Amino acid sequence: MKQKKVSVILCSYNEATNLPTVVAAVHENMDKLPYDYEIIIVNDGSSDNSMEVIEQLCKDDDKLYYIEFSRNFGHQNALKAGLDYATGDCLISMDADMQHPPRMLPRFLEKWEEGYDIVYTRRMEDQNLPKMKRKTSAWYYRIINMLSDIELEEGTADFRLMDRKAANVIIGIKGSSLFIRGLVKWIGFKQYGIDYMPDERLSGSTKYTVKKMMSMAVQGILSFSTKPLHIALYSGFIIAALSLLSMPYAFISYFTDHYSNGWASLICVVGFLGGFQLFVLGIIGLYIGRIFNQTKNYPAYIVRSTNIPQK
Ligand code: UDP
Ligand code: MG
Repeated sequence: MKQKKVSVILCSYNEATNLPTVVAAVHENMDKLPYDYEIIIVNDGSSDNSMEVIEQLCKDDDKLYYIEFSRNFGHQNALKAGLDYATGDCLISMDADMQHPPRMLPRFLEKWEEGYDIVYTRRMEDQNLPKMKRKTSAWYYRIINMLSDIELEEGTADFRLMDRKAANVIIGIKGSSLFIRGLVKWIGFKQYGIDYMPDERLSGSTKYTVKKMMSMAVQGILSFSTKPLHIALYSGFIIAALSLLSMPYAFISYFTDHYSNGWASLICVVGFLGGFQLFVLGIIGLYIGRIFNQTKNYPAYIVRSTNIPQK
């Protein structure tokens, strides 16, 4: 029987100091198992010496491949490239900073062999993480679940195994602002969740700046829901109804001495309405922006070089 093949995808942005350790740890865990495998590093436009390190590592490693982007396209797009290029029967994605422990690989594959199509992970509350990070992460899931039509479990990052048939569905989805962790939930299949305690980042600092995190959160909401548009509609309706109620008051005031008094309340209402209208326009704008990006049909990423033979 032909040996099954596993693809391990490492998205990496300025992780030159971590890559040798991560790659060695993946080998250590995979070599013990009866699978053929490949490791694919997606170098997401790193500005450090990642490429030198990767080329050096590839020299004496026939299981190691790389995809180099022409610039930084972001983690989700890097992940998409990894899926697109991988050739395995199952595809495992993990971070390249050792926070996703490679010792979990055997457990993933065990569950895969049991017949699960997707084995995903839930990060357990880590007391070592900065409080700020834990708080923002909890809020992130709460907001996404409130505003979108999918239910994401807290702590489910891009550390998971996907069977070829599940991965193929994601690969087939076109677009340049994919929110893969939402898609994975959305596509269904037989899924199994494992809790894990993340290790500490080996070196360097987080590449998810507040800006990137915000953009990811907005992406998550816009990709899976038109709820914000509904909220805009309903609150617009309520505010209009309230202003109707104020009409009799204005009418009565017209015939009384108080007529010239309402400047302060007027300015408050006008200011509030103006702000609210801009807010609603902004929400609509975000959706139009997505349509705009989709119609441009730009690729999700641009590959500068790779040592993976083209299919
Ligand atoms: N990453 C990437 N492109 C980016 C940002 C991050 O490929 O634009 C990679 C990064 O190198 C890491 C993974 O995505 O392997 C997760 O990022 P990070 O560890 O910085 O996030 P955190 O674990 O702090 O949430
Ligand atoms: Mg990390």
